[in-house]
Amino acid sequence: MMLPIHESLRGKVAVVTGGGGVLCSAMARELARQGVKVAILNRTAEKGEQVAESIRASGGTAVAVACDVLDAEGVKAAADRVAAQLGPCDILINGAGGNHPKGITTHEIFRERDLADPDVVSFFDLTKEGFGYVFDLNLLGTLIPTQVFARQMIGRPGSTVINISSMSAPKPMTKVPAYSAAKAAVENFTKWLAVHFAETGIRVNAIAPGPVDGTGAAPQLWPTEEARQAVLASIPLGRMGRPEEIAHAAAYLVSDYASFITGEVLTMDGGQWLGRGVFQ
Ligand code: NAD
Repeated sequence: MMLPIHESLRGKVAVVTGGGGVLCSAMARELARQGVKVAILNRTAEKGEQVAESIRASGGTAVAVACDVLDAEGVKAAADRVAAQLGPCDILINGAGGNHPKGITTHEIFRERDLADPDVVSFFDLTKEGFGYVFDLNLLGTLIPTQVFARQMIGRPGSTVINISSMSAPKPMTKVPAYSAAKAAVENFTKWLAVHFAETGIRVNAIAPGPVDGTGAAPQLWPTEEARQAVLASIPLGRMGRPEEIAHAAAYLVSDYASFITGEVLTMDGGQWLGRGVFQ
């Protein structure tokens, strides 16, 4: 299949946080294929460097900078390095995010007997620390890089931010209350920011992926073949998403083809949200 090239993207500079991960490395590769110069900001340096190296090996331009998105000074230092090496940022993808075991309950549904079972993490065992970790990573981890990089976008037409939500925001997945609520906050923040920045011309959108194959979340989401089949049965398109499909949507949203789209959260779940209605 010949995939489209969005000419408006050529020569732009993109910063992809969490770009060493599964979904965001696919986004970084796709943007590089579109002629975008890509900076991978990842907490784990080696993971970011591997992705940058693979982009360079296929003829693209990429640098990796180790940084924690929750460390404002570190993000500012990373921004200076990116500006010196590639130029000011046109496209920010806030991909660093995820879950934490301390924000997860053992069971999907609360049962009174859980209270007496030391091996069960019930709703009542969830901690401020666990919730706080997940909220900080997803919400403040979106806020801080946006404060740093959107500053460089002011007065430069075609600049845009993509945040990464999850279909667990509109329809919370069982067991993951912190993650679901944090992603809902990311969506709300996306809409707020889109309006706040509208006069500057900076567009702000989000992508909400549903189940995607090959990601680190997969073993938690469908730990058994039976669980995997149940997920598949809930998706009208009959399969999980692929990281490159999320990346293609990101490329569209940051291109001028999407120049009238801001404050949008793009659902990418193969129709899972809609289900199969009465025809099951
Ligand atoms: P991943 O764990 O493969 O990638 C996340 C990357 O972020 C990792 O490389 C990690 O090193 C980096 N990172 C984590 N904390 C960081 C920090 N504080 N500073 C800098 N970098 C940090 O995850 P993924 O599955 O590719 O998910 C990427 C995004 O998509 C996340 O926001 C996730 O919540 C969201 N998402 C994933 C799925 C899925 O099916 N996997 C579905 C919906 C949404």
